Amino acid sequence: AHLDRIAEVDGNVNAFLHVDRDAAMEQARAVDTRLAAGEDLGPLAGVPIAHKDLFTTTDMPTTAASRILEGWQPPYDATVSQRLRDAGLVILGKTNMDEFAMGSSTENSAYGVSRNPWDLSRVPGGSSGGSSAAVSAFEAPLATGTDTGGSIRQPAAVCGLVGAKPTYGGSSRYGVIAFASSLDTPGPFGRTVLDTALLHEAFSGHDPRDSTSIDAPVPPVVDAATRADVAGMRIGVVTELDGEGYQPGVMQRFRESVALLESLGATVVNVSCPSFETALSAYYLIAPSECSSNLARFDAMRYGLRVADDGDHGTEDVMSLTRAEGFGPEVKRRIMLGTYALSSGYYDAYYGSAQQVRTLIKRDFEAAFGDVDVLVSPTTPTTAFPLGERAEDPMAMYLADLCTIPTNLAGNAALSVPCGLAPEDGLPVGLQVMAPALADDRTYRVGAAVE
Ligand code: GLN
Repeated sequence: AHLDRIAEVDGNVNAFLHVDRDAAMEQARAVDTRLAAGEDLGPLAGVPIAHKDLFTTTDMPTTAASRILEGWQPPYDATVSQRLRDAGLVILGKTNMDEFAMGSSTENSAYGVSRNPWDLSRVPGGSSGGSSAAVSAFEAPLATGTDTGGSIRQPAAVCGLVGAKPTYGGSSRYGVIAFASSLDTPGPFGRTVLDTALLHEAFSGHDPRDSTSIDAPVPPVVDAATRADVAGMRIGVVTELDGEGYQPGVMQRFRESVALLESLGATVVNVSCPSFETALSAYYLIAPSECSSNLARFDAMRYGLRVADDGDHGTEDVMSLTRAEGFGPEVKRRIMLGTYALSSGYYDAYYGSAQQVRTLIKRDFEAAFGDVDVLVSPTTPTTAFPLGERAEDPMAMYLADLCTIPTNLAGNAALSVPCGLAPEDGLPVGLQVMAPALADDRTYRVGAAVE
């Protein structure tokens, strides 16, 4: 049914970069055989899934939506892909995204934009916009994404879905093509809090192949999603994320959700996190710095595209001509920014001070979580914006992640849950719930109460 739905609507939505009907049917039959043999595969056996095209998969190409990886077939599975195969999920295909996960609209894909199923003239968010579009258009019941600065929560919010950014180190980065390694966090998309929690638990947990993976028990998110009980919880509204410049309908739905939580027995207080004001600036130094280093591996020698390999050009020419042709404009912008910020003489002024800001943000969170169980804010300042509106204006695009970025800089857990439609445009609004590291279950508890 999902493959039929993809055939029916994906010409308009363009959520997928790759769909393999025969491979999916074959996987489904293999799951049947395992179940018939009495294997206990858990609650998601046979459920179809779409993977962001940043997760390596042995049976499908993985492009990161970049020309530079066109035609590359990974020789290994990401841990997330592997664990979900083991649990009997059936891979429908790979989803579109902003190239190397850099963007908030999917307009930076080398393979065309994805469209928001609520309104095809608008963006589905990004960078995991193919995943959010696929789940929202009922092409897949579940999808994976990665969240470096908001790339799961923001597309979930603007497509009316639940999306979680797990605690950093709570989900494995092994086999996830790296953007900014100290921030990248694989996570789940679903249409309900419980669906999302089931997927979250199915791929989480310690992975010896990822040196930053946390060796601690997986937070009981499924249990929390079924409890949906906020009585006695202390909830903080972040005053710095409660504010001016936000779309009125977004603020209206946000305030209604806060009132709902209060009526369900939570205590709501205002909490100030002054360093959040500088989070966006710090992020746009740290993420490009890490990306400039990570993307050095695309050198025309090891993977994918190679141009000017004609005997007339030397190795350096082949490398630079391949990178010039293979990377899109946003990726080049980030590599240049990051290379500059890391240069000798500028390191302390830019990268060094951004890291200090990062520490201040962590401290703001620590102080806040000394007083409250979770913090809440709108997930995004606006609902889905029209395609093209911000494509030529990187600063306007970067503002889409104003509310989500502090959590990545601190390494904490957060979740976006739908909280109604904005009256002025009828488009979905997301409530963001933020919790300390390894307290992901709290975000699901609050999310389930709002749902
Ligand atoms: N939109 C942000 C960026 O462009 C976040 C991307 C992400 O989370 N992968 O960097």
